[in-house]
Amino acid sequence: MISLIDIVKEYEVGQITSQVLKGVTLDIQDGEFIGVLGVSGSGKSTLMHIMGLLDKPTRGKVLIDRRDVGGLSDDALSSLRNEYVGFVFQQFNLIGKLTVLENILLPVLYARKKPAFDPQRRAEELLLRFGLLKRKDYFPNRISGGEQQRAAIARALMMEPKLILADEPTGNLDSKTGSEILSLLS
Ligand code: ADP
Ligand code: MG
Repeated sequence: MISLIDIVKEYEVGQITSQVLKGVTLDIQDGEFIGVLGVSGSGKSTLMHIMGLLDKPTRGKVLIDRRDVGGLSDDALSSLRNEYVGFVFQQFNLIGKLTVLENILLPVLYARKKPAFDPQRRAEELLLRFGLLKRKDYFPNRISGGEQQRAAIARALMMEPKLILADEPTGNLDSKTGSEILSLLS
């Protein structure tokens, strides 16, 4: 599904170049569930941003379904990202001025192509599956952290992405809610 080949990521800070990723090669097959472990600052988010096409490597290749994405324009990258990747973040990143339902529908508004499914219906299915039907008209600041993260996962799944990237998705939750979120993800 996705391959990283000898990925190097460097940041220039003043005169100093620091190499955060030092040649990462990784193959991920359809259906795999992978965890990335490492101390804070070791480059986990950097790696996920590159896998999710949010950032570009300094050197090395990212292949999606065997296709090198290195030559794609920014526009082509954003539409590939919108259809292919769902992101879940530690801080949930829901839009505060939108309701739960509106947040879940948001990726459809950004999509260039009309999806093959009925967005309203898919959103309702996701709300049901994640136990959020009663919360659909609530704003994010009126629901619990676990509910916010469930809404964020529902939003990440809206476009039926092949790849879901979750960056410390349980970092802001208590351990019981965190394990619920992990089983929902799996
Ligand atoms: P992790 O997610 O494992 O905590 P990160 O990928 O966020 O690690 O960061 C890895 C390293 O890269 C850190 O030392 C961080 O300071 C550095 N870094 C991340 N983003 C930037 C940036 N935009 N500019 C400079 N340094 C950065
Ligand atoms: Mg991080």
